[in-house]
Amino acid sequence: MSYLGGLQPRRRSVAVSVGGIAIGGGAPVVVQSMTNTDTADVEATARQVAALAQAGSELVRITVDRDEAAAAVPRIRDRLGQLGVSVPLIGDFHYIGHRLLADHPAAAEALDKYRINPGNVGFRDKRDRQFSEMIEIALKFGKPVRIGVNWGSLDEELLTRLMDENARAARPRDAGTVMREAIVQSALGSAARAEELGMAREAIILSAKVSGVQELISVYGDLAARSDHALHLGLTEAGMGAKGIVASAAALAVLLEQGIGDTIRVSLTPQPGGARTEEVAVAQQILQSMGLRNFAPEVTSCPGCGRTTSTVFQELAEQIQLYVLGRMAAWRADFPGAEMLKVAVMGCIVNGPGESRHADIGISLPGTGEDPVAPVFIDGKKVATLRGPGLTDEFKAVIEDYVARKYGGGTRAS
Ligand code: SF4
Repeated sequence: MSYLGGLQPRRRSVAVSVGGIAIGGGAPVVVQSMTNTDTADVEATARQVAALAQAGSELVRITVDRDEAAAAVPRIRDRLGQLGVSVPLIGDFHYIGHRLLADHPAAAEALDKYRINPGNVGFRDKRDRQFSEMIEIALKFGKPVRIGVNWGSLDEELLTRLMDENARAARPRDAGTVMREAIVQSALGSAARAEELGMAREAIILSAKVSGVQELISVYGDLAARSDHALHLGLTEAGMGAKGIVASAAALAVLLEQGIGDTIRVSLTPQPGGARTEEVAVAQQILQSMGLRNFAPEVTSCPGCGRTTSTVFQELAEQIQLYVLGRMAAWRADFPGAEMLKVAVMGCIVNGPGESRHADIGISLPGTGEDPVAPVFIDGKKVATLRGPGLTDEFKAVIEDYVARKYGGGTRAS
């Protein structure tokens, strides 16, 4: 078997507009996130939504779990307006979403999309009725929905039926396969029901989240093959720190490589007191690493080795990384395209000059001893040698000049 590799063409999906943001239909893959504040706390929630939006989240989901939370939604929208934030808000509903939406029309109006979990809208007749009520409210207010299946709250009746059918089959499949089929059928069946109720395909996004990497790839592969709905990707309950980041990246990268996925969320468990915005940075980094979108200049740095025994190289790499990220907000306004910039910060002459030449701007420390004497490369050519304690600031100035020249028509950034 040969491996052809390479990014596959994006799967053709039906475009959905969520608060003016295009999802699917060939639009760039959208980054979204979710708050972890009590939605009834208007100020805390509005501030976290604003922080997520400023970090680059293009849609933000908030929990709407009780009357106080539903009543807070329009006030959160107003507060965001005062903060100058217009990011689309998604309401996350479970169990009583039908009632909350019916009892709080201002919330139904203020939200840009409703997330419905078909496994959490009651049982049998009640489920059909409650699901229908939510769809009818979405139709009334002209809102799209995400039908979001999660294997932690999978439709038990559907799973039991498929398991029973499987047990009677001549060649029963393994339980994992049947469960994945139940997840896919739950999403597709609910979407079909929403369409029967009058919802357009252009107003339905699907997700089917599981917490295992291989299972997620398998479920979304099936979902992509069996429908043309826009797909929201995410590894649910990805976990904390490196585990969550790596598992999310591994799963999403395989699917994105196959052209599957119109919007993504990285579901990290934050460290106690940690920034919620980390999940946005990781989602952006996944898309940027895959070559699907550019959000900020890329700083390539080598890991360092026995040739870089002091911290000089690590400090330089860190400072340059922080500098370009910190400058990006201003560059985005003044120098469109600056997010395409590639900077290399390398530890020694083994790979330093070569890697630096591949970047727009590169600097290579000398390695052993790390006397701060370092050649600087611009567009593949050595242009200067920086030395001494002012090296880092001088290199920042080189970057600043380059950005202004390349992306600003020669004007210097303030
Ligand atoms: S570029 Fe030099 S310092 Fe960096 S990892 Fe390679 S050999 Fe080590």
